[in-house]
Amino acid sequence: MTALGPQPPGIPVPSPSPVSAPYWDAAREGRLVYQKCAGCGHVPPRPSRRCWRCGGGELKWLDSAGTGTLHSWTVVWRPQHPSFVTPYAPVVMAVDEGWWLVTALVGCDDGDIREGMALEVQFHPAGGGIWLPYVAPRA
Ligand SMILES: [Zn+2]
Repeated sequence: MTALGPQPPGIPVPSPSPVSAPYWDAAREGRLVYQKCAGCGHVPPRPSRRCWRCGGGELKWLDSAGTGTLHSWTVVWRPQHPSFVTPYAPVVMAVDEGWWLVTALVGCDDGDIREGMALEVQFHPAGGGIWLPYVAPRA
């Protein structure tokens, strides 16, 4: 078993757009935020100008508690970019507010990953002023 940790600064990082900037600004402050449609309640899978379900243009930014459970994962031993340290574990967390977060798991061994484990978000710097939300087992 191998301990999973955050990637060191120097990995490829996102370039915030005008639409996604509120997400990355909040991450830099240690807050996880998400959009929710004021019209139908849908949570789009990524920052958007319009609702993916009803087409409405009133998407509000909300603070997330940053907690949820592990829905799906994989462990990567052959990275897609040479700057990534292996192993790392991309995961899908079912966020308690009813949306999905695709991220990576840290703070446990790769052999201890279990479906449904309780997780919480923690932020780590990735370089270029970007802080990435990772998830770790909830204490
Ligand atoms: Zn909608």
